[in-house]
Amino acid sequence: MATVPCAIRSPEIKFTKLFINNEWTPSLDGSSFTVANPATSDVICQVSEAKQADVDKAVFAATEAFKVGSKWRQMVPSNRSKLLNNLADLIERDRLYIASLETLNNGKVFKRVYERDLPMVIHTFRYYAGWTDKHHGKTIPIDGDYMVYTTREPVGVCGAIIPWNVPLIMLAWKVAPCLAMGNTLVLKPSEVTPLTALYVASLVVEAGFPPGVLNVVPGFGAEAGSALSHHMDIMKLSFTGSVNTGRLIQKASADSNFKNLTLELGGKSPLIIFPDVDLDVAVGAAGVAIFTQAGQICCAGSRTFVHEDIFDEFVGKSVERAKMKKIGDPMDVDTDHGPQINKHQQDRILAMIEQGVKDGCTLLCGGKKVEGLKGHYVQPTVMIGMSDHMEIARQEIFGPVQLIFKFKTIAEVIERSNASQYGLIAGVFTNNINNAMTVARCARAGTVWVNCFFALNANAPFGGYKQSGSGRDLGEEALDAYTEVKTVYIKTPPLV
Ligand code: NAD
Ligand code: MN
Repeated sequence: MATVPCAIRSPEIKFTKLFINNEWTPSLDGSSFTVANPATSDVICQVSEAKQADVDKAVFAATEAFKVGSKWRQMVPSNRSKLLNNLADLIERDRLYIASLETLNNGKVFKRVYERDLPMVIHTFRYYAGWTDKHHGKTIPIDGDYMVYTTREPVGVCGAIIPWNVPLIMLAWKVAPCLAMGNTLVLKPSEVTPLTALYVASLVVEAGFPPGVLNVVPGFGAEAGSALSHHMDIMKLSFTGSVNTGRLIQKASADSNFKNLTLELGGKSPLIIFPDVDLDVAVGAAGVAIFTQAGQICCAGSRTFVHEDIFDEFVGKSVERAKMKKIGDPMDVDTDHGPQINKHQQDRILAMIEQGVKDGCTLLCGGKKVEGLKGHYVQPTVMIGMSDHMEIARQEIFGPVQLIFKFKTIAEVIERSNASQYGLIAGVFTNNINNAMTVARCARAGTVWVNCFFALNANAPFGGYKQSGSGRDLGEEALDAYTEVKTVYIKTPPLV
């Protein structure tokens, strides 16, 4: 495997304004907000803050860019493909810089961003570049003298609102299929992590996209996010974030123009370990499933179910591994465990752990903030003794807290693991094909991982059952969300 280069510790901040119509512009009222480094709490820079009027301006630019006769509407699909591939090439060219910027702004471990996030981002653009001329309609045989066919047309002006936990990946998941299908887009990155989206916007110009095709408006949810979700000229909105915000976005759609929605919300995903596994492999995988990115992943394996025959040994080894993690500067190549995104999240996680202990759980390691570091660090934490109905067992923690539950039978664990408001992921480790197949069939979840975890690929759809959301990102499925179906009936002469 290629070695990971050293991170650029202080990547230059090149873009801090709104990106509208391929130009950098301050907010109309001059507002800006502070962006900080989660690993040190230091201020990185000020970024222009989009308000309602700025969002209107961006939507107007996207509307102009989508008009019949515009450069973008006239562009042939193979040229759209070329532009998306150009963008992928430019991101690849600047991979080291972009990965460093992501770590600076988000605090996640550089090694992983470089090795895992950036390749996924690049591949997502290339994958959708291949789709620009392949999303076919149908010809439909009906009774009577008609020819009936469907076409897939772009929806028009789209919006995207994305979270702070995987800023670049979320950008790619929304931008690539949206532009591949010929739409235009206004993207609002999280107010916490706007920097890499702004940099990628600069590459959009270099790649050759016409003005107004992609616009980036950093700002807060209650202002810029709300303006987008209520906008009468946005026809489709894709959102990833919390359940509560998802609810507001669905209401906003109903209160405005019934814009189509893709909602990718949280999870409380089970990872089920049967007793036939290689114990060390399973312990390692379960640790990766919850501690990666300090637990700040919607598809984290946040409920580990372990068979009673191996429970004690599994728990012992899990605690050992959690204690061994190297906590520190996410820019360092040997750091395993970085900070939480901000103090608010850190406090929330610590409060949930404390409540869990009050409710009767046993804290085996961690559970505290890391002393001596200026960033928002929480120790890798392992807990047992939860009952399924406790708050801590039901709510998404979004932190480095492994909850290990004990089970006896497969029927029991299927029932318990499905008993959640969420349904994003179900993971299972076993060498017994029948157990694997049964879990895969019975899981009420959008993705099932068998003997693996975090296996994500642009080619395969991703999304949730139940309150984990609606619609799918990635794969061919995402194209449906970014297109309207048009049915054309043509009256034909009768056969002679
Ligand atoms: P959030 O839902 O508040 O924010 C996500 C995005 O929505 C951000 O861009 C935000 O500005 C925007 N937003 C906020 N309020 C809005 C509104 N009223 N209208 C329109 N847009 C709005 O999530 P968060 O505060 O960043 O994180 C809180 C919790 O959300 C986490 O603890 C976690 O449980 C969950 N979360 C889930 C995911 C995921 O991938 N599913 C990602 C991040 C956070
Ligand atoms: Mn659904």
